[in-house]
Amino acid sequence: MKETFKIGELSVASGEKVCRNIIVPGTDYELPITVINGVEDGKVFLATAGVHGCEYPGIQALVELSQEIEPEEVCGAIVFIPVVNPSGFYGRRAYVCPADEKSTNFNHISPGDKNGTLAWKVSAFIFDEIVPQCNFHVDMHSGDIVEDLEEFIAVCATTDPEMEKFCTEVAKHTSFTHRINSHGRRELYNSSAIDRGVPGLLFERGGQGILNWDEAEKDKDDIISICQYLKILDGEPIDNSEGQIYYPRHHWGEAEHTGLFYKFVNTGDEIKKGQKIGEIRDMWGNVLEEIIAKFDARVKISPNSLGLSKGHDTFMYGSTREED
Ligand SMILES: [Zn+2]
Repeated sequence: MKETFKIGELSVASGEKVCRNIIVPGTDYELPITVINGVEDGKVFLATAGVHGCEYPGIQALVELSQEIEPEEVCGAIVFIPVVNPSGFYGRRAYVCPADEKSTNFNHISPGDKNGTLAWKVSAFIFDEIVPQCNFHVDMHSGDIVEDLEEFIAVCATTDPEMEKFCTEVAKHTSFTHRINSHGRRELYNSSAIDRGVPGLLFERGGQGILNWDEAEKDKDDIISICQYLKILDGEPIDNSEGQIYYPRHHWGEAEHTGLFYKFVNTGDEIKKGQKIGEIRDMWGNVLEEIIAKFDARVKISPNSLGLSKGHDTFMYGSTREED
């Protein structure tokens, strides 16, 4: 864009690219950020990854795109935060932000609070300084170390039908085969939509702490395609309008007991209403909980860990039918 783009202490002139760490105000927390400010005006696109530190394909995609995209190619501006949670990433910790005294999950606290603990401050910085300057936000995830996941794209939670329609159109211009609508509230991209009016999508691709290069490549292609759809980058976006399958109904299961987790189905399996898909047992084999499918569906995420705690996610499954 023709104007200088500013985030906190960072100032990026028209036609300039800056890749560096910036200090989140009021902390010593270093946030890696890339700003590619084009010469021509256009929309501003934000992609974040590494909210959960061991979800690698999205992180690698933004690391590579930061190096590859040049300001001359951009109309508007592109902002990448390849790792929102560096202490989780370098510390190899699933879900949480170890630098925060409460070891908070970043995805449960948006839009943060500048008077809160570290993770809340970082979250508030992203929401107060960065998100309001953007026209679209993609947050890139995978299954974490203990999760086996089949890829899908999620449309942000919004009460605005026009925004939902727009995000759905954008989602169809990615290579994701499966699409859901989020019912969430405190996740980064949902908060962008709800608290700042910035439409967004969530990528879920990869898992189990694996850097799969094909998945990183697909994430890159899909980010480029969205930027093309938004006219920030030149070229024809992917058109997946015909091929993408919509799951109007989905369910996130939550463990009611701490114990040993046994699954009887795998990610990608079709399951039937009433089917026993998993069990939680105590150390001596007593069944604490049976996990029963609530409707006919396809398993999208399932845990791989033997141990889990009350409140942890169990199966996430979705259905292409609104009702039974
Ligand atoms: Zn995640």
